[in-house]
Amino acid sequence: MKKLRIVGEPNRLSALNSFTKCSGLVAMRATEEESVSGPAADLGTAVGRGQELWHQGKTLEDVLATLKAEQPKEFPKANLETTNKTVTRYCNDPRNFPEVVVTRSLEQEVRLVIPCHPEDPSGQPYEAVGHMDQIRYAYPYEKERENMGFFLWDAKNGKAEGEEMLGDYAFQLAAYALGADALGEYPGLLVGGIIRTKGYMSRIKDSETGKLRAGYPGEHKVFFHAGWTVDDCRGILANVAYMIGQIRKGQIAHTPGAHCRYCPLDFPSCTADNVREKHLRRARRARK
Ligand code: SF4
Repeated sequence: MKKLRIVGEPNRLSALNSFTKCSGLVAMRATEEESVSGPAADLGTAVGRGQELWHQGKTLEDVLATLKAEQPKEFPKANLETTNKTVTRYCNDPRNFPEVVVTRSLEQEVRLVIPCHPEDPSGQPYEAVGHMDQIRYAYPYEKERENMGFFLWDAKNGKAEGEEMLGDYAFQLAAYALGADALGEYPGLLVGGIIRTKGYMSRIKDSETGKLRAGYPGEHKVFFHAGWTVDDCRGILANVAYMIGQIRKGQIAHTPGAHCRYCPLDFPSCTADNVREKHLRRARRARK
């Protein structure tokens, strides 16, 4: 069964990322299946699961044993050796002590409702649901930590550089933050940023010898800070309602760029009337 994203409710919150690229891509993805499994996607899922288990309080040994047991069913294409190395380095990093993360936030469901834009003929809001990775305490070791602020972080295992990822995933991060804020459990929430877990596999340039060497725990550059407030996030998503309204109206603004490499369509054939109409028709149809 196809899951349609533009009108059908609820949409996947991560689908918002396509809005930062090209509305042709958004309309096309409206007809995609829920998830595309491949080695890179499965590796990301496996590393994320390892982090979740760690912050739930499991020992590293238990984390790795659980990953091994779950792999055949949950992330069959993930390379277990790379998963174990990445997860082990994450767990050994003193910045990731289990207690820095709010346990209830792990994979917690968040919901975002974007009101309908005045130009949107559907009259329907856009509703998206997702599961955030983790929220960290601003002051994890204080008794009053529940009232001293929080940071939302999202872990990504992609190859892109961290700064680039902040832009690529800005809509998703902002949407998680608004959804988490709406829960009312995280006063003083800020967006921490992206944890680029691939950084745990990088070698470090030694400042004395200039040679590359394996990094010590806590040394890898993996935290890329956003520091956005919840109000900033509203501003970041301000144009999304307009973009959704335009697609629902039948207007697609094709925006070619590097992201075309990941699009199943080809530019400029994607701009052909028949191709555009096909995707618009599907995107407008409610999920069945
Ligand atoms: S090929 Fe590029 S321009 Fe065309 S729909 Fe895909 S992302 Fe947009």
